[in-house]
Amino acid sequence: MAPLTYSIVIPIYNEADNLLALHQQLQAVLGPRPDAYEIIFVDDGSRDRSLAILRQLQHHNPNLRYLSFARNFGHQIAVTAGLQFAQGQAVIVMDGDLQDPPTLIPVLIDHWRQGYKVVYAQRRRRDDSWIKQGTAFLFYRLLRQLTEVDIPTDTGDFCLMDRDVVQLLNQMPEKHRYIRGLRAWVGFPQTAVPFDRPNRFAGTAKYTLRKSLSLAISSILAFSTLPLRLSTYLGLFAAGAAIVMAALTLYWRIVQQSDRLIGFTLITIAIFFIGAVQLICIGILGAYIGRIYEEVQGRPLYTLKELNGFPNQPTHLPP
Ligand code: UDP
Ligand code: MG
Repeated sequence: MAPLTYSIVIPIYNEADNLLALHQQLQAVLGPRPDAYEIIFVDDGSRDRSLAILRQLQHHNPNLRYLSFARNFGHQIAVTAGLQFAQGQAVIVMDGDLQDPPTLIPVLIDHWRQGYKVVYAQRRRRDDSWIKQGTAFLFYRLLRQLTEVDIPTDTGDFCLMDRDVVQLLNQMPEKHRYIRGLRAWVGFPQTAVPFDRPNRFAGTAKYTLRKSLSLAISSILAFSTLPLRLSTYLGLFAAGAAIVMAALTLYWRIVQQSDRLIGFTLITIAIFFIGAVQLICIGILGAYIGRIYEEVQGRPLYTLKELNGFPNQPTHLPP
């Protein structure tokens, strides 16, 4: 069998209404090209008919393979599993709701042929709600301020990665994965392709506010230790405030012979203030320690209940 040139990795969580249209558009883009390719769908524990549709599509399309998780493990883990199973020289990661247009794939490929190891699609404009657009705008800029890794703004997971990069990502054992960050972290020549992001074809966003928030926190914890140092700054600030209050009190006491400010209110405020600073710092410590704990537990990233269409398919599911 000829070596595969491209793998398309697509995480799927309850996308039954998008799958047929997506598959059709992918065929239209990839079918006429001469290179061998595979499409890997990763079913992230869907509760709708997604898996049944994937089984059917696989039946008729020898280039299509799928894995199915035993439960919902989340988008980043689904992409990770797809990368582990992909065999192509270039791996393209895209969403399953047609927000990442398949027509952009040839453009990504052209840039790869020019020698770029990572070609990521960058949103010029997006049709999401203004809340999502606003928070995303702020978040990407905050993240850039916090980390030393040059994570490009306004990019999603839609990208093409060379095998060298995929191999490096596959060697990273971390559980809390922020693929956009890891992809930038490896280095190599990388470039952006601008595109206008349409609304999803059908269905509702699977990234709830909670999932988005958790990904945002996860990305900051994974790529910055600044919050840990923040405790020191907060502590210094609290100490400074205490010194100023002490000086003021002395001044009023000795120079002005007055006993203002020495009262119940001041003491209460000071106690609450220092308590708050301590709790915030413990919370930040806790966030990092919790992640260390989850990493040392060493559980597998996901559990598989089904896989199909892979050449040399193992007779039993890998752990
Ligand atoms: N997705 C997933 N697991 C999840 C949530 C989402 O595999 O727990 C998939 C989803 O099916 C889609 C992609 O990740 O293919 C992006 O999800 P969504 O469209 O909800 O994100 P958004 O475009 O709103 O950022
Ligand atoms: Mg989407």
